[in-house]
Amino acid sequence: TVLGRVRAHLSPGLALVYGMNGAGAVESCGDGARIVLSDGRSALDFGSYAVTLLGRGHPEVLRAVRGELESMPVSTRVLANGTTAGFAAELVAYTDPGRLTRVWLGLNGSDAVEAALKLARLATGRTRVVAVEGAYHGKSLGALAATWNRRYRQSLEPLLGGVVHIPADPGAVPGAFAEEDVAAVIVEPVQGEGGVRALPSAFLAALTAAARAHGAYVIADEIQTGLRRCGERALSVAAGLRPDAVLFGKALGGGVQPLSAVVATEELYGPLATDPFVHTTTFSGHPLAAAAGSAALRAVEELAPRGERLSGLMAEGLRRIAHRHTGLVTEVRGQGLLWGVEFGPHGAAGDVLLELSRRGLVVSPCLGQPEVIRLLPPLVATDEEVEEALDLLDATCAAVPD
Ligand code: PMP
Repeated sequence: TVLGRVRAHLSPGLALVYGMNGAGAVESCGDGARIVLSDGRSALDFGSYAVTLLGRGHPEVLRAVRGELESMPVSTRVLANGTTAGFAAELVAYTDPGRLTRVWLGLNGSDAVEAALKLARLATGRTRVVAVEGAYHGKSLGALAATWNRRYRQSLEPLLGGVVHIPADPGAVPGAFAEEDVAAVIVEPVQGEGGVRALPSAFLAALTAAARAHGAYVIADEIQTGLRRCGERALSVAAGLRPDAVLFGKALGGGVQPLSAVVATEELYGPLATDPFVHTTTFSGHPLAAAAGSAALRAVEELAPRGERLSGLMAEGLRRIAHRHTGLVTEVRGQGLLWGVEFGPHGAAGDVLLELSRRGLVVSPCLGQPEVIRLLPPLVATDEEVEEALDLLDATCAAVPD
C-alpha cells in the first residue's frame, strides 16, 4: 500500500504526519478546492500550508506548464530564457516597481530566506540579523537561525550566528540596534506558523524605521501572506513599510511547481553585479516554474475580488463558531484567506484537526503554535464550499469534548 511504502521508505515519522493531518488518507487527484482520495472519498483542501491558493489543477497554470514543456523539453541552465526573464519582469511590476527592480528565483521558502540573508550580509558587510519572536522562516541551516521555535533548533546548534529574536513590541526595537552591525531585519507582517498573529503596526513601523536609520535592510517574508492570501499583493508594501526585499513562495508556482522569489532593490543586489557566482543554485529560474509563476500571478489577480468575498464569509462564519463553542474555542483571528482558530483545552487543536480530516476537511496545524489550527481556503473555492467547511468545523467542535 501507499502508506506501507511511506512507512518503509520515506523519512521516518512522515507516516505520523500523514496520520495526524490526513487520518490515513491518500491523495489521488483534485480539482479546485477538492482533493479526490484514493478510496473514492473527497475532501475540501483548506490546508496545504498555503500552497494551494489557486486550488488544484488551475487550468491556466496547467496550460502554461504544458506549453513550456512542449517548447523547452530540457532547460540548459546556461543560456538566457525568455519565460524566466518575462516572469521576473512581471514579478517586479507586481510587487513594488518603483523600488524593487530585481528578482532572484528560488525553489522554496527557505531558499528565498537564505538568498535574502546572504544579500543583506554581502551588501552591508555586517552579520547581525534581527528577527521576531514567534517567527517562522524555514528549516535550512541559515533560515533555521531566524526561525523562533526552539523545538526545531536546539539539537542543531550552533546555527548561523548573529541572529537575535525580539518581542513584537516597539519598546524592544532600540535594544536590538544597540550594536551597530545589523545587516537586516526579517519579519512576517502576519506570523502564519506562529499562530496567525498579525504583528502590531506600531511595532512594524518602529522596526523598519530603526532598520533604515541604522543602514540595515528590511526583508519582508511574505512567503505565506503574499499573493492575496491576506488580501494584498504584499502586506508590507501595502502598509507603506517600504521593504528592501519581499519574499514570495508557497503559492507562487500555482501549486504545481516549487518556486520562490526575492524581489528586491538594485542596491541589495549590488554585490552580485560583479560576481554572480556568489549566489547560484542549479535550478534557479527553471522555465517550467517560471511559466507556472506567470500564469499564477495573473490568476491570483483575476481572483482577488473573489478572495475578498470569501474572506467576509470566513470572518463571519468563524466568529459565529467561536460564539457557539466558547469552552473550546478561545479565539479566531485572521484576514483574507489566512485564518487561525485557537483552542483552550490542551490537545484539542490536534483532536479537531484529525476529526476534520476524517469528515472531509483538510486544514493545517501551525508549526510554531500547537493550540492553533489554520484554515486556508483557496481563491477558487465557491461560497458553498466555504459554507460546507464552516459547517464541518462547527459540527466537529460540537463532537470534540471540551
Ligand atoms: N517563511 C514563511 C513565512 C513560511 O510560512 C514558510 C513555510 N511555512 C517558510 C518561510 C519556509 O518555506 P519552505 O517550507 O518552502 O522552505
